[in-house]
Amino acid sequence: MTYFFETYGCQMNKAESASLEQLLTARGWAASDSAETANLIVINTCSVRATAESRIHGRLGWYTALRKQRGSAKDGGFTLVVTGCMAERLQEDLKKQFAVVDYVVGTFQKEHFQDIMDAIQDNRTLEAIDEEPVYTFAPLSLEKGAFQAFVPIMHGCNNFCSYCIVPYVRGREISRSPKEILEELDQLSAHGVKEITLLGQNVNSYAWKETDDTGTERVLDFPWLMQTIATHLKKTNSSIGWVRFMSSHPKDISSQLIDVIAKERVLCRHIHLPVQHGSTKVLTEMNRKYSREDYLAKVDMIRKKLPDVSLTTDILIGFPGETEEDFDQTVSLMEKVGYETAYMYYYNPREGTKACTMPNQIPMEIKKKRLGKIIDLQQKITHTEINKRVGTVAQVLVESVSRDNKSELLGRTEQDERVVFSCPENLIGSFVKVQLKELSGNTFRGELCPGN
Ligand code: SF4
Repeated sequence: MTYFFETYGCQMNKAESASLEQLLTARGWAASDSAETANLIVINTCSVRATAESRIHGRLGWYTALRKQRGSAKDGGFTLVVTGCMAERLQEDLKKQFAVVDYVVGTFQKEHFQDIMDAIQDNRTLEAIDEEPVYTFAPLSLEKGAFQAFVPIMHGCNNFCSYCIVPYVRGREISRSPKEILEELDQLSAHGVKEITLLGQNVNSYAWKETDDTGTERVLDFPWLMQTIATHLKKTNSSIGWVRFMSSHPKDISSQLIDVIAKERVLCRHIHLPVQHGSTKVLTEMNRKYSREDYLAKVDMIRKKLPDVSLTTDILIGFPGETEEDFDQTVSLMEKVGYETAYMYYYNPREGTKACTMPNQIPMEIKKKRLGKIIDLQQKITHTEINKRVGTVAQVLVESVSRDNKSELLGRTEQDERVVFSCPENLIGSFVKVQLKELSGNTFRGELCPGN
């Protein structure tokens, strides 16, 4: 039996698809190079933007044509499963709209993949899934020889930013037990993994509740978890040398967390801190739960405690009601913070969210113009910021052979910057010290330090 995955959207989806693949391979299934030959096709969907859903609609149209050629599983063709956020949002409507879809598995029904696999292997059809939906964290997934891994630690979102569909499709925040997380880190270390990224929609809103013998409840928060992980990795002499996390919410960045990062070298000095906008008025309309001033105060606190940190962000431009003055506030905030990189996008109304029906939607040509301006600005800021590191020595995790020059290798610094340099291929997957010599675009050219 063979399978084929199409995965869209965030790292959480990628981690969940990898975990499902692992379930399949454990049952003797093999990956297929093409949907045209696979017995099982899984589309793991994203609902964050309307364009992501349109793309998946297009794919389902293509699978409808493929079904005509190949037939369904009982005729020797294929089974099509749609999972992820779009499955959660549309549920059985997806099947009504696209008859080619055999199973819709929502965010809280992933446990039922085992039942679907059983049904396919027995050549029968599974009846509708009607059990109480629950969220289960995907078990560990790791390709053979992999040295980087994602570790989901929480799921869902309680924030309801007015433009975002995530809380509706991923549900409320659920944290994973510390015991389970540490066990997973031990398994990853047994595989020689060097770098992990803790994942969650609001990773730093992690909150695990436990009750002690006296019946007293306490909440274990993200700084506690980071400290516990750092101590555990040291104590177990783990292979894991870098711990990253994403995505964080600025409201939950605390000085305790930054103190832990400053103290523990295993925790990377790179923080992705999505600001979304520079105007307090727009941030309030977005329901981001912080003001421009709160955000800048956190940036100051971080930079004081972690002078070598790199900060990256997300910026959403063209939100309903955004004036030229609001836009200028974003420009000035970007200049003030000096992000190393930023993911910038313009607002697209998302059906089912509050912002979708807000008055004063911004015309497309203005949104595009404003976006173009901040992209140009960020390019200059990126160059200035990373240029400051030329001449320094960085610890680098060697990732792969460079795509542009096969005689060089590509690695990443702790601050998540790209470096190319000459180095023996057998060092892929190792930490090395590299002198950052010069910049080529936004990539450093480096030289391996002696003694690696
Ligand atoms: S914090 Fe806001 S943007 Fe992030 S997932 Fe939650 S609602 Fe969406």
